[in-house]
Amino acid sequence: MNITQLFNEKRPRFSLEIFPPKKDQGGIDTIYSTLDGLKDLRPAFISCTYGAGGNPADSSTRDICRIVQENYHIPAIAHLTCVNSTREQIDEVLDSLAKAGVENILALRGDLRPGCEPQHDFEYACDLISYIKSRAPQFYVSAACYPEGHPDSPDTVSDILNLKHKVDCGAQHLISQLFFDNEDFYDFREKCAIAGINVPIEAGIMPVSSKSGILRMVSMCGASIPKKLARILNRYEEDPQALRDACIAYAIDQIVDLAANDVDGIHLYTMNKPETAKRIFSAVESLR
Ligand code: FAD
Repeated sequence: MNITQLFNEKRPRFSLEIFPPKKDQGGIDTIYSTLDGLKDLRPAFISCTYGAGGNPADSSTRDICRIVQENYHIPAIAHLTCVNSTREQIDEVLDSLAKAGVENILALRGDLRPGCEPQHDFEYACDLISYIKSRAPQFYVSAACYPEGHPDSPDTVSDILNLKHKVDCGAQHLISQLFFDNEDFYDFREKCAIAGINVPIEAGIMPVSSKSGILRMVSMCGASIPKKLARILNRYEEDPQALRDACIAYAIDQIVDLAANDVDGIHLYTMNKPETAKRIFSAVESLR
C-alpha cells in the first residue's frame, strides 16, 4: 500500500514504530507479543527500525515488516540506512524487501559511528532515495526530518535545504525526530512550507519511561527538554510508575495540541511497549 495515500483525510493519521527485539531478549519471535498488543490500536502503519550499524545480513527488519503485513494486515514501512553499506548490499536488501512484499521504505543515512568506517557508495539519505527511485521505483519512499535541526547540521537553513533536496529526490512522506516542545515543530513546519516542502510530515512523539534513558537519547539526537518536562523528570525519577504516568500525560497533551493544529500525522515511538501505546491511543481515540 502506498503510505502517502493515507494522508488525504482531514484527521491526523496515527502510526507506530517498533524495533527488532535483541537476540538475547528472545529475538524476532518475541515481536508477536508486541504486535498482539498493538494490533487493536488500528495504526495507519507500523514502521520497523534497521540496526544502527546497518548490517544488510540482518533480515529482522524485513521479516518483521512481512509479519506486520501478512499476519496483522497492517501496512509496514521498513527503515533502511545506507552509510555503512555498499551498493551491492543495498541491492540485496531492496531485492529481499520486494520479494517479501514490502512496498514502503524509510530511507536513511544512518549515524556516523566511531569505529564503523562509512562505505562511500551513499553519503547522505538523498543518495539512497535517488538510488531507490531509479533502481526500484515501485517502492514508496519516506525520509526523516528534524524539528530542532539534525545534530550534524551547522545551521537550520542548510538542514531545511537538505531536506528539500531529499523531497526533490523522491521522498514522499516525512517522519520527524522526537521533540518535546510543539512550538519547535510548528516553527519547523512553517520553514518547510516556505521552502516548498509539501509532502505529509508526521510528528514523532516519544513517551518517556526513564530519566536516564531520555537524557541519553537527547544527547545523541539533539532534542531539547523543556522546563515542564525537566520538572517531571526531576520530581519522579525515583518513582517509575509515577514517572510513566506523568510522561504518558505529557505525550497525550502534546498529541492533543498537535491534532488541534492540523498535524498530518502522529508517529508514536512505542519502544515495543504496547501498554503505553494503548493508554495514549485510548486517550485520543476521537481525535483520529
Ligand atoms: P541525512 O538526511 O543524510 O542528513 C544527515 C546530515 O547531513 C544532516 O545534518 C543533513 O542536513 C546533512 N545533509 C543531508 N543531505 C546533505 C547533502 N546533500 N549535502 C550536505 N549535507 C547534507 N537510525 C538507524 O540506524 N536506524 C533506524 O531505523 C533509524 N530510524 C530513524 C527514524 C526516524 C524517524 C528518524 C528521525 C531517525 C532515524 N534514525 C535511524 C537515525 C538517523 O539514521 C540519524 O539521525 C542519522 O544521523 C541521519 O539520518 P538521515 O537519513 O536523516 O540523514
